[in-house]
Amino acid sequence: KVNNYDVVVVGAGGAGFSAAITAKNAGANVVLLEKMPAVGGNSLISGAEMNVAKNWVQPKLGINDDSPELHAQDTFKGGDKKGDMKVINVMTHNALDAAKWCKDYIGVNFEPDNLFFFGGHSRKRALIPEGHTGTEFISKFMHKAEELGIPVITNMKMVDLIKNAEGRVVGVKAEMNGQEYTFNAKGGVVLATGGFGANAQMVKKYNPKIDERFKTTDAPGSTGEALYMAEKAGAQLVNMGYIQTYPICDPISGVIELIADARFDGALMLNQDAKRFVEELDRRDVLSHAILKQPGGYCWVLWNDNIGKISNTVKTHTNEYEAFTKQGIMKTCEDLKCIADFTKMPYDQLVKTIDRVNTMTGKGNDKDFNHRSGLMDMSQGKYYVIKAVPSTHHTMGGIRINEKAQALTADGKVIPGLWAAGEVTGVTHGTNRLGGNAYTDIIVFGRIAGQAAAQAAK
Ligand code: ADP
Repeated sequence: KVNNYDVVVVGAGGAGFSAAITAKNAGANVVLLEKMPAVGGNSLISGAEMNVAKNWVQPKLGINDDSPELHAQDTFKGGDKKGDMKVINVMTHNALDAAKWCKDYIGVNFEPDNLFFFGGHSRKRALIPEGHTGTEFISKFMHKAEELGIPVITNMKMVDLIKNAEGRVVGVKAEMNGQEYTFNAKGGVVLATGGFGANAQMVKKYNPKIDERFKTTDAPGSTGEALYMAEKAGAQLVNMGYIQTYPICDPISGVIELIADARFDGALMLNQDAKRFVEELDRRDVLSHAILKQPGGYCWVLWNDNIGKISNTVKTHTNEYEAFTKQGIMKTCEDLKCIADFTKMPYDQLVKTIDRVNTMTGKGNDKDFNHRSGLMDMSQGKYYVIKAVPSTHHTMGGIRINEKAQALTADGKVIPGLWAAGEVTGVTHGTNRLGGNAYTDIIVFGRIAGQAAAQAAK
């Protein structure tokens, strides 16, 4: 079956929706293909915080000295200077416009007075969607796509890119229920197929250190086959070995424990000996490797109401609270004795650790691990504890793109008709993606790719 469009967008996550909606508004006849039965990809299950320097919440919190330049520097440094500064600058300088588009045009609701502070950032700058997950974005994107009459075809898997005799990408081959479909694209194809974190073999192939011990936080569609199709079409794959693990995940399913985000407000990470072993706000890769070095390769995240009244995660993530408690990896206690009984951490050492923390509260006072935002007083309950392990989370590598989201060959030439946006690309985050940068990346470059592909159809 042959279908003709101006623009074909592959992958219905945040990048794909941003591209398709933008292409449509630029006058293109566009289709969005998704191989899974449901849309959303990793974008749906993400915490979906979005880093935006100079956003509208910062002044309310007294933050008036942030800038896209600073955000770019944090991103570059956070990725060990392996990212492409030209591409990073495009991301950070278009972040505010992208966020306003989400808020004012797509209808995404953000918390009006609250921002998220991820590790590696020099300013608090991440906008928080209502509900603290990607559901807020994806449901509003889906609604907008319907309103605009964009066909979103699920269960439709891209299996190849089509090139013409001149080397231009002019469409995709896809499959649904064993039947083959052709989607011709007059302007071009936008690849927004996400990463490969759910493909354990591919992860191990590119980074043998990340082996069977790691589960994944990712949506099941993050299997990366589209990367090979892009490679076959001439695109260079770069930074493929840089695979981010998320440190705090469910030891059984691998999913992120959003409830343990109390860590950002002072929750401690303890090993089975009831000892701290790392600065809790260090980078994800540092935390992940530190956890794997502890006895059993896991840790306990512990906080109390003093921290909880700020982070509020137990109330925000009631589903997790009930599920993890029932599953037997989480416990709420009035006192530390109960925590020690549940976790089997030695009670004496636990008391010693907490007593020491209580003498080092406040910014600049943590003599052991130099906690950057300051330890919190933990002398009073209730206490909350959850067991956690690292999982693969984000694949930093992927298709090499330029500032215009065009796919590039190994010698830096543009592949005509092929754009890529989001986790499928490989030059923004270097060795390590900072928290809150995925959403900025996918919206900014999704819009750029969609706009350009629509333009090319004219
Ligand atoms: P991003 O954050 O970059 O938008 P997501 O993981 O949110 O990435 O979305 C990528 C989407 O692409 C997922 O829903 C995934 O199922 C889909 N996808 C991946 N490979 C293919 C493919 N070969 N054909 C169609 N859809 C795909």
